[in-house]
Amino acid sequence: MGQAMVGITDSACTGCDLCIPFCPFEALLPLVENPTERKHPKRPVVVVEAACVGCLSCIGSCPTGALHEIPLPPKNEASPLLEPPTPPDTAPVLRWGRHGIGWP
Ligand code: SF4
Ligand code: SF4
Repeated sequence: MGQAMVGITDSACTGCDLCIPFCPFEALLPLVENPTERKHPKRPVVVVEAACVGCLSCIGSCPTGALHEIPLPPKNEASPLLEPPTPPDTAPVLRWGRHGIGWP
């Protein structure tokens, strides 16, 4: 298996949050606000690139097929993870306890 990470096609993401508990690394998080240019009424979920290890545990969890694998280049010097972009403004998700989302 080569190195990979996951991307979300924004136009296909309805913000249903079903994928969130499938990520053991808390790399799938909802944006705090819905971008004004977005067509869906609900804010999307995004991949926090610095937290995604490319395990692909989440890949089959999206009912709209918005999650897709992004292969990383074989040479480390060319990896986009070397200089990750500024993380988006995401909301925390309560995982455990009475009101937590738990594990699927
Ligand atoms: S499961 Fe798919 S549509 Fe739902 S929030 Fe995750 S990426 Fe978006
Ligand atoms: S590939 Fe793994 S670490 Fe990355 S978002 Fe999916 S479940 Fe999380």
